[in-house]
Amino acid sequence: MNQGEADAARRLLASMGHEVVSGPVDDGPEPTDAVLIFTCDVISSTERRMWKRMREVESEGKRLFVAGCLAVVDGERVLSEFPDACILDTMGIPAVESAVQGHFSACTEDRPGLISAPMKRLDHVVNISTGCLGSCTYCITRHARGALISNRPERVMSMVQSGVDMGRKEVLLTCQDTAAYGADLGLEGVDLGSLLRDITSNTLGTHMVRVGMMNPSSLLKHESSILDGFKGGDIFKFFHIPVQSGSDHILKAMGRGHDAGTYMGLIDRVRGAYPWAVLSTDIIVGFPGESEEDHRRNIELVRELRPEILNLTRFSTRPGTPAASMEGQVHGNVSKERSRELTRAHREVLASVLNKRLGLHRGCLVSEAGKREGTMMARDRNYLPIVIPSDDVALGETVDIITDRAGPTYLIGKVA
Ligand code: SF4
Repeated sequence: MNQGEADAARRLLASMGHEVVSGPVDDGPEPTDAVLIFTCDVISSTERRMWKRMREVESEGKRLFVAGCLAVVDGERVLSEFPDACILDTMGIPAVESAVQGHFSACTEDRPGLISAPMKRLDHVVNISTGCLGSCTYCITRHARGALISNRPERVMSMVQSGVDMGRKEVLLTCQDTAAYGADLGLEGVDLGSLLRDITSNTLGTHMVRVGMMNPSSLLKHESSILDGFKGGDIFKFFHIPVQSGSDHILKAMGRGHDAGTYMGLIDRVRGAYPWAVLSTDIIVGFPGESEEDHRRNIELVRELRPEILNLTRFSTRPGTPAASMEGQVHGNVSKERSRELTRAHREVLASVLNKRLGLHRGCLVSEAGKREGTMMARDRNYLPIVIPSDDVALGETVDIITDRAGPTYLIGKVA
């Protein structure tokens, strides 16, 4: 979502005549004049990297523009350390546009040969909303982004179509909780399911859509419409549904609004509708009060759930959140060891999960260059990553692939 807002700012700045050089590079024809940072402070290690980068920019004598969640949550501290910095409120695409237009005037200077970095990927981030309906006790994002503000369906449709018109093949619908989409619009029948049906029936041009993170409690409220929306041939059967813990009393302390049994039932129904769906889930390790028994429950859940993707985050206190002052804070070494055990447990199940998927995969999108020379990464209709030799395929092509072996987190194959 933050990257989607940065993308929107990049396109706007370029259309105003500014030369946008992505990333902290300074080997362009001219040194950069200003740096606009879209900050994130979801966990403490990330926040530390943001401050380090801001200090670097300031020491290089460049103009510092600070956007993203840290600018909203801790803007005063930013200005006290960097008095010449500019704070931008970029919470949502409309805010990005007014902030960029407000802080950057159109460049009148004639700039021959605007340089744009060659496209390595074909993805196009579409922010469908900002804010959420949740009250998770560990979360600082809701303090930054506040209540749910959904972009109207026609606005989302035009953002999707403009990406496809630019030749992007992989549309990433994103926000804090895609399953809450539309709950604030007061429009009868408008939710994530109806939005997906609209995209499937109205978007012109080859494309595939990946739906971002869905909170179980929101998905449960619109389950049949959302699962129906995934039927579209252009929608990856990829479900990112964070569970965060396998322990009911930890889920309660987190304020997640559901227990582990409800979550497992929901996943059974998702897999009932889409037997080959790829499941991605998240667990927060070391939440305050997490006992050895709770940790056991997390391991049992991973073994039972057998997710294709498991994102582990070690709990870190975020300023101003209820969890920051909760009793029973878990020592860093304990959560580090528990995180290792969960990774091992997941790797054990993942090998057999991936081996069950070997065979023919129809209609795979070649979406990016592979990490190893001479390879490409493709995504099958369930968004499963497949590594293939690059010699007879091009970026953006749709191909059939036969896979015959599994890597640690992906499959390996050849074009059929
Ligand atoms: S749903 Fe929970 S974790 Fe997600 S942004 Fe909202 S409060 Fe944070």
